[in-house]
Amino acid sequence: MVESDPRRSIPRTDTLLALPEVIAAGETLSQTTIKTIIAEVQSVVRAGEISVAEVAPTIISRLGSRSASSLTPVLNATGILVHTNLGRAPLSPAARQAVLDASGYVDVEMDLVTGKRSKRGTGAKAALLRTCPTAEDALVVNNGAAALLLAVTALRGRGSAVGSATGSGLAYGSTAGPDLTAASGTAVVSPTDIIVSRGELIEIGAGFRLTDLMTTTGARLHEVGTTNRTHLTDYANAIGPESASLLKVHTSNFRVEGFTSTVEVSELRGLADEHNLPLIVDLGSGLFTHDDVLPDEPDIDAALRAGADVVIVSGDKLLGGPQAGLILGRSDAVQRIATHPLARAMRTDKLTLAALEATITHTGNPVHDALHIDPDELRRRTGTLAEAVGATVVPHDGRVGGGGAPGVPLPGWAVELPEDCAAVLRTGDPAIVTRVHQGRCLVDLRCVPAAEDDRIAAAITRVLDSRHD
Ligand SMILES: *Cc1c(COP(=O)(O)O)cnc(C)c1O
Repeated sequence: MVESDPRRSIPRTDTLLALPEVIAAGETLSQTTIKTIIAEVQSVVRAGEISVAEVAPTIISRLGSRSASSLTPVLNATGILVHTNLGRAPLSPAARQAVLDASGYVDVEMDLVTGKRSKRGTGAKAALLRTCPTAEDALVVNNGAAALLLAVTALRGRGSAVGSATGSGLAYGSTAGPDLTAASGTAVVSPTDIIVSRGELIEIGAGFRLTDLMTTTGARLHEVGTTNRTHLTDYANAIGPESASLLKVHTSNFRVEGFTSTVEVSELRGLADEHNLPLIVDLGSGLFTHDDVLPDEPDIDAALRAGADVVIVSGDKLLGGPQAGLILGRSDAVQRIATHPLARAMRTDKLTLAALEATITHTGNPVHDALHIDPDELRRRTGTLAEAVGATVVPHDGRVGGGGAPGVPLPGWAVELPEDCAAVLRTGDPAIVTRVHQGRCLVDLRCVPAAEDDRIAAAITRVLDSRHD
């Protein structure tokens, strides 16, 4: 009989919306969100997974536990510092506070003394220039890819009017080199060719190629050299009237070993001067100065000293800040980039500027701390965790990850668990992402705040206990 089917008596949406708890939830949750949760629970009861009597309590509980966004905070127990799938760099406490403070109305483009409009991002820029005095000027855009696109688009040869507010163009280096205006015999030409080594044409992740990015605005890549070896003469032979810039890209996510040869920034500087071409260096990761832990990782200071006109780095890699693209270098070059119309489409928001400034001006940077973790302390914490859960400690190398120090191991330890623990830990509360490697689940505490060790121990204990049930 139809009436005996309990699913026939599923409470109607109107009735559920009228529950006092549901009305109260409307003070913080949108009606769409509430109706979505109601519909979800109605379909669960329709599927026979819960009883009709459980409908209202289930809805009320789901409304109460609804987090502000669908992003789940994760404990990164992979040992990988800059994990792109986990949002790259975690922000420092100061940066988190800065984001919160900047999230309302702020004086991002107003001088509160005069009440007049001011320039966006002056605080972040000043902090960048104090940290990197080699740079004359700096610009912050949305991410590294945007910074690269903007730089190669705005910096095209010396005579190009592209992106120049005055249309006069800017001279780079000495005054030697071809006069493109005269050579063309007509109006100002806009050279198109970006000269770059074949060994530096990289894909930065999930099918995303820097080469495709750069050619979107009509630039052409003039590839020189071979995959493993490129010489200064390769660049020199490629230079002609069409040349727009010299580009050097840090091979941030792979290593070529064996019979290799690349051209240093300082050598390219000579060539750039000779032909009056801008020299753009994309470093990917964002070390301001040399770090002994990563001896081969290039840094901004060194690249500028070696003669780069502009250096490009990401804000959320080794710099340990928010997603951003930083362009640092000579003031004429940076100004030319900043005044290009495309710059407006890549403008950073106030939250990013706040987080970036705080990242640079304060300590407590999680990426930096994980990179420089005291090995004895890591060993001790790992040992304590292993003991608490009854597992063993194994040597385990951490990594910088996402666009920095490819192939460089960061020696440390991990707690070894059976492989099938990984999925349970990942979907638990707290969500813990471990490294699954060679049939084992490895828990590396390098990137885990020490204050979370106990929660990790409790979560692992629960998982191991449930396996024995
Ligand atoms: C990561 C990376 C980029 C892209 O930077 P995003 O901030 O991810 O947009 C560009 N170039 C290199 C060399 C990189 O490593």
